[in-house]
Amino acid sequence: DDLRQQLVVTAWERNRLRENISFGKRESQPISGQRKSLPVYKMRSELVRAVQDNQFLVIVGETGSGKTTQITQYLNDAGFADRGIIGCTQPRRVAAVSVSKRVAEEVGCKLGTEVGYTIRFEDNTSPQTRIKYMTDGMLQREALLDPTMSRYSVIMLDEAHERTVATDVLFALLKQAAQKRPDLKVIITSATLDAAKFSEYFCQCPVITIPGKTFPVEVFYAQTPQMDYIESALDAVMEIHVNEGAGDILVFLTGQDEIDSCCEILYQRVKTLGDSIGELLILPVYSALPSEVQSKIFEPTPEATRKVVFATNIAETSITIDGIYYVIDPGFAKINTFNPRVGMEQLVVSPISQAQANQRKGRAGRTGPGKCYRLYTESAFYNEMLPNTIPEIQRQNLAHTILMLKAMGINDLINFEFMDPPPRNLLMRALEELFNLQALEDDGRLSKLGMRMSQFPMEPQLSKALLSSVTNGCGDDIITIISMLSVQNVFYRPKEKQQEADNKKARFHHPYGDHLTLLNVYNKWQQANCTEQFCTINYLHYRHLKRARDVRNQLTTLFTRFRLPIASSHGDPEVIRRTLVSGFFMNAAKRDSQVGYKTICGGTTVGIHPSSSLFGKEYEYVIYHSLVLTSKEYMSQVTAIDPNWLVESAPHFYKVADEDSQSRKKAKIAPLYNKFSKDQNSWKLSSIRQSREK
Ligand code: ADP
Ligand code: MG
Repeated sequence: DDLRQQLVVTAWERNRLRENISFGKRESQPISGQRKSLPVYKMRSELVRAVQDNQFLVIVGETGSGKTTQITQYLNDAGFADRGIIGCTQPRRVAAVSVSKRVAEEVGCKLGTEVGYTIRFEDNTSPQTRIKYMTDGMLQREALLDPTMSRYSVIMLDEAHERTVATDVLFALLKQAAQKRPDLKVIITSATLDAAKFSEYFCQCPVITIPGKTFPVEVFYAQTPQMDYIESALDAVMEIHVNEGAGDILVFLTGQDEIDSCCEILYQRVKTLGDSIGELLILPVYSALPSEVQSKIFEPTPEATRKVVFATNIAETSITIDGIYYVIDPGFAKINTFNPRVGMEQLVVSPISQAQANQRKGRAGRTGPGKCYRLYTESAFYNEMLPNTIPEIQRQNLAHTILMLKAMGINDLINFEFMDPPPRNLLMRALEELFNLQALEDDGRLSKLGMRMSQFPMEPQLSKALLSSVTNGCGDDIITIISMLSVQNVFYRPKEKQQEADNKKARFHHPYGDHLTLLNVYNKWQQANCTEQFCTINYLHYRHLKRARDVRNQLTTLFTRFRLPIASSHGDPEVIRRTLVSGFFMNAAKRDSQVGYKTICGGTTVGIHPSSSLFGKEYEYVIYHSLVLTSKEYMSQVTAIDPNWLVESAPHFYKVADEDSQSRKKAKIAPLYNKFSKDQNSWKLSSIRQSREK
């Protein structure tokens, strides 16, 4: 993607030069003027009064009306921050960062001082911070140490309509906190009209609607179902660019790869257009984009130029791009869903809901009358799309969430006040996973290990491995591996230089697999003084490695805070793999000469992902970090293991199936299903057993 960024940046620089000429014009619309023109501005005193008079308040307003950036400032001006921080949560990391940057600029302070942000592994706040943007996940973590949110005067749960797991959990936690703290103010903001439901949940609190200034948007449907929505989207862009009047285009796609390749294809096509047609500036927007590139989307489009933005559903509500007149909506988004067949969560491209489609449409009507091209049929819209998106809490793996709730002493999950409770089988799955990881005692209470695990902001399997590394004396190595696993793919593989990139990558390959390969990459980079040059030569993403280093520092800090020793095994492959198995034993697969591999629990057919360093190797037993679904189910981040380690780290979960076979190599491992006998006295465990048998 570096090449892509280069393309974008050079196109950008070119426009930049042109822009300097008309710079005076841009200066004439200073920030204060922009702020005053926002729909919330007229309501500022009404909003402040409503917050003063009510403990809970629901605010509804069109995206772009100024809820996120302005309301916190109004409250700050009204003195709320004198009593505690004004906190504002965002479902997305990027939104938290970009919004806080904008607000710092508006307030006129350095980011991290009066206005700051906190996201996982990154805290950019200080004791002076009065307005703090953060991911909802981070505030949920804070509740662990401070259930009454004593540092805050106001908490605004923004983008509540997104219904992320963390926001849903915060609904309940903040309702409880507010009972204990009459001075705490809770604001729920939403872009769509779930207002009545939110208000009912928060004790029939008042709802304030910010009248939006929106223009009509004409909708066009596809005549027939489209086989290839990417092709259709690109056609639509070209069509608009060549035939339609001025105005920028926003295209919704599902992910980074798709967006990058669309930008590249379009760039090639536009080059063939000739001079008679105005320039088309192509910009990608997704979470992983560096913020320098991201902020470019907010800059006004130069005259005689059209801008096309390819975005994930981050542009649906989290961020607002001005000047959009055309929206192209293929009708899909990537969502995280628990896949019961493989027993884990996967990112799957799925149809969006009608509510989302209408939200996307609305993006075209902010500056003037717009047009929305739906790349699906009208009948699909009415008959195949759900009216509303299903809340994440009803479709995601809840193990991490439950671990945190239990750590807060919330054991009775059935009666926990969820706005929409998760289905029972999802709860059971999560409890089962935590039990298998020995985070729960037999009676369903948190074990000592589970308590420790809850202190790390990551999936329980990872925190388990992290803690085992302390006992196994390889903390230093495992911290590195986990840091590398929590950042974007570090290997850079440009289309025109794939072979060369693959050759460079192969030099880092560890014979036992990807986890040790990642360790190799990081250590070699560090030996080379963490230079960018090292990355360029070796086809690595410098930015992602730097992020891994930041994560690593954060984890090291956590270890120090919890007084956990960090020993190094100096890359000892045996100790490191054993430690990984202690967290990932549930993700084990055995080779099957017919079909590749089969997962040990569940027997799903899986392959080793072609990008894995184990691709083409034939180890009998492996563990994997996750399963990705493309044309088939692939294991990603795979490491070869000794099957005896499975039984060793999880004797409650595995047994040696073939008792006769004493030879280590031939030992057959089977999941232990008969652990829970009928006379189990705990309902929790017996229900686990039932759900497992189903
Ligand atoms: P809401 O939360 O109601 O969707 P926001 O407060 O996010 O609205 O945005 C209000 C306005 O501020 C938008 O019209 C947008 O153009 C502008 N804005 C937001 N973020 C930025 C930014 N990083 N740079 C420039 N303008 C921004
Ligand atoms: Mg907002």
